[in-house]
Amino acid sequence: MADLAARIARRIRREGPLSIAAFMAVALHDPEAGYYARRDPLGRAGDFITAPEISQIFGELIGLWCADLWRHLGQPQSVILAELGPGSGALLEDFLRAAAVLPAFHRALDLWLVEASPVLRARQQRRLSGLGMHFVADIDALPPGPLLLTANEFLDALPIRQLVRGRLEWAERLVALDDKDRLVFADGQENPALTLLVPPALRAQPAGTIVEICPAAAALAATLGERLVREPGAALFVDYGYFPSATGATLAALRRHASAPVLDDPGSADLSAHVDFAAFAGAADAAGAIVHGPVTQGRFLAALGAEARLAALSARATKVQRAALESGLERLIDPAQMGNLFKVLALTSPGLSAPAGFD
Ligand code: SAH
Repeated sequence: MADLAARIARRIRREGPLSIAAFMAVALHDPEAGYYARRDPLGRAGDFITAPEISQIFGELIGLWCADLWRHLGQPQSVILAELGPGSGALLEDFLRAAAVLPAFHRALDLWLVEASPVLRARQQRRLSGLGMHFVADIDALPPGPLLLTANEFLDALPIRQLVRGRLEWAERLVALDDKDRLVFADGQENPALTLLVPPALRAQPAGTIVEICPAAAALAATLGERLVREPGAALFVDYGYFPSATGATLAALRRHASAPVLDDPGSADLSAHVDFAAFAGAADAAGAIVHGPVTQGRFLAALGAEARLAALSARATKVQRAALESGLERLIDPAQMGNLFKVLALTSPGLSAPAGFD
């Protein structure tokens, strides 16, 4: 993958320093050497582990949450179930098992997987074999009709830009080359146009303060918001992040479950940043969607009956299975583990009542 670093260096010599967003897009999605283009990042043997990999209860409760929304939508005979970045397919598998208790809902589901990675598409196809499903690269490619959409740890993978407070205005942190042709961070010129990209409440800061913005997340929120005004539906986003908007750099690289330098060997590590849920909510709201939350993941799962689900599964489990079920759910709900850092935000079409978990 040194090859990708060399290609990025050539591009910088040709075009000048890159925004961090441009760097992330290449490092994650370059068709030959990008992180998601080549490898399966999930699980113990990969680089990180996510909620659906930790506990089946996560996907099951999201399945029941969607079943409830399907009722709010008037039980349409066909509803698009879209997942953004389905990873190993674990969430969908658990979702569909839980959804089977409501056969009419299960039958109505038309599965659409929004997935960039060919490696993960193959894994999803294997895991969910026997079910008809469509793959698309973007939500713009989803057909019209009632929509239920879920996304776990998707927004954190979208490219961010970092803005740095200068003496009077804000500048952009860029990826440049040092005198030995190594990739380094370097700040561009202060510019009033960059100041306008910073959320107004965060503009007056000491020099050197960093703010992250995610244009791709804002664009997704706007597209989805417009769609939910045109057509009935709901969307659920779960991710680690903050609310309200805040200063500070959160961009990080993860390799084999340990943090790594962001610019080191691009393509070989996962890159992600905490989600600004306030910015995401603001963009969806401006487009006309109704925003619910965010609430913490711990509170959301508890409100959806995680404990009752655990008890039902435990009654049929061996002692070893029971211990695994308990510790898995504990990890998702415990405020000191994933319960507080992870947040849940829902978007609905205007006119629907508040979905479960957001009262
Ligand atoms: N939701 C899964 C996987 C999270 S990892 C889980 O919780 O386990 C992020 C997922 O998003 C991967 O499937 C990755 O391939 C996909 N992805 C990342 N960026 C994407 C993009 N721009 N478009 C489509 N899929 C993307």
